[in-house]
Amino acid sequence: MNKLLIFTAPSGAGKTTIVRHLLTRFEELAFSVSATTRARRPNEIEGKDYYFLSLAQFKTLVRDGAFLEWEEVYENKFYGTLRSEVERLWNLGKCVVFDIDVKGAESIKNIYPDQALAIFVKPPSFEVLVKRLEMRRTENEDSFASRVHRAKEELLFQDNFDAVLLNDDLQRTLQEAEKMVSRFIQI
Ligand code: ADP
Ligand code: 5GP
Repeated sequence: MNKLLIFTAPSGAGKTTIVRHLLTRFEELAFSVSATTRARRPNEIEGKDYYFLSLAQFKTLVRDGAFLEWEEVYENKFYGTLRSEVERLWNLGKCVVFDIDVKGAESIKNIYPDQALAIFVKPPSFEVLVKRLEMRRTENEDSFASRVHRAKEELLFQDNFDAVLLNDDLQRTLQEAEKMVSRFIQI
């Protein structure tokens, strides 16, 4: 069966950290590289972290029905999962791993209810989440403020998913995440 493993959470909760770790531990997994119109961060690689697109390119793909789901996560910052990306990874026999916002996660879970496991990554508190975002130092003032604002809303969505993974102590969290993945890929 073609499987999907979805990690969702507000920005700064720790999805990317957890997903990167899992990808080193399980060769059965492969990361779904999303398309986005946001600027590339210095440490990010085109085609590995994201497909970085102009707004015009993104809109053309929307019009052509190329996306399984897409969202305007922040004002004028679009993110989407390409159908071709999921097909490509399934054709390699992989379980596809997503790092996406809560609305995108709900969309994918609704499209594939029996094949997908959707995990909400929960920070210990709103204050800790804000601290982690600050420490990451990737955002300018505007984008930091919009992430914090959106995080408040996104934290309310945790009950809509199959499981909640509390990200407090990182080592404990990674172990718990590994157990979840082991169970899911064996089914
Ligand atoms: P997301 O992908 O959800 O936006 P990241 O994985 O980028 O979140 O994590 C946000 C920041 O918090 C990063 O700097 C990361 O190193 C740090 N971080 C993640 N998990 C923990 C944790 N359990 N304890 C402390 N810092 C963490
Ligand atoms: P960032 O800019 O920090 O990489 O991501 C911002 C938010 O967009 C995060 O919540 C991230 O999970 C989400 N995101 C990344 N890719 C996608 C995608 O393809 N679709 C949706 N809906 N959200 C995405």
